[in-house]
Amino acid sequence: MHELSIAEAVVRVATRHAGGRPVAKVTLRAGHLRQVVPSALEFAFELVAVGTEVEGAELEIEEVPAAGVCRECGVESELDGFPLCCTGCGGLNIELIRGEELLVDSLELEEESELALATRGA
Ligand SMILES: [Zn+2]
Repeated sequence: MHELSIAEAVVRVATRHAGGRPVAKVTLRAGHLRQVVPSALEFAFELVAVGTEVEGAELEIEEVPAAGVCRECGVESELDGFPLCCTGCGGLNIELIRGEELLVDSLELEEESELALATRGA
């Protein structure tokens, strides 16, 4: 299952950056061409996150529209899906510049200030 392997990668990156602190929210940037199904990914994410710092965290998926530059006429087009086709000349010779990314954009840690208070003076 496509979404499950993505969820595993997201949880791996998030736990590495969290450094043992509980995570409230993970923001993921997903290119349109990756064809991620958000509901399936959220479900997989919840499963994979169990027992990690990311358990119970909210997953926010930001979809990045795909875009490419035509190698024939140089027009930049936003690409809704396949086939990738230039809006300028209708050509198919497109160099993709966006839409294939899949990365963890940011993490929001749980109760950062409370954590600081609890350790003060200890
Ligand atoms: Zn073109």
